[in-house]
Amino acid sequence: MTYENVVPSDLGGIASALLEAFATTNVWLFYGELGAGKTTLIKEILQLLKTEEPGSSPSFSIVNEYFSPELGSIFHFDFYRIEDQREAMDIGCEEYFYSQALCLVEWPERIPDLLPEKSLKVHISMREDQRAITVKA
Ligand code: ADP
Ligand code: MG
Repeated sequence: MTYENVVPSDLGGIASALLEAFATTNVWLFYGELGAGKTTLIKEILQLLKTEEPGSSPSFSIVNEYFSPELGSIFHFDFYRIEDQREAMDIGCEEYFYSQALCLVEWPERIPDLLPEKSLKVHISMREDQRAITVKA
């Protein structure tokens, strides 16, 4: 399905609908060019899940772990900066994907060989100051 003409104030409602509809899918892949709004939507999801970020990580790296009272550990990946899929393999991304933990993944196209068969795909495209968000299971 596609949400058209999405403005920032719509994102909370969309995040909430996705959490309800796709609770049984643990790997969520976010596609879209730089500035499309992948991180913004993921932050909405994390906020709805009332996550706390463990204080240890100094700055954003390939993976950040969050903790939700309801769902436990949640992993936010950003593969934008990796040069080789091996870097993703080395941090153990496949173990996260095949666990039960919710994995929110930016730039999944950088790790084509490591993606699980089952995932939710969220495509965000930019249309001037609005977005279209397409969701496929
Ligand atoms: P990405 O992670 O895809 O590179 P970001 O989420 O970091 O993108 O940044 C997207 C930018 O676009 C932010 O400035 C954000 O406020 C804005 N933005 C995000 N979603 C929307 C939207 N639905 N409509 C308009 N602007 C948006
Ligand atoms: Mg981002």
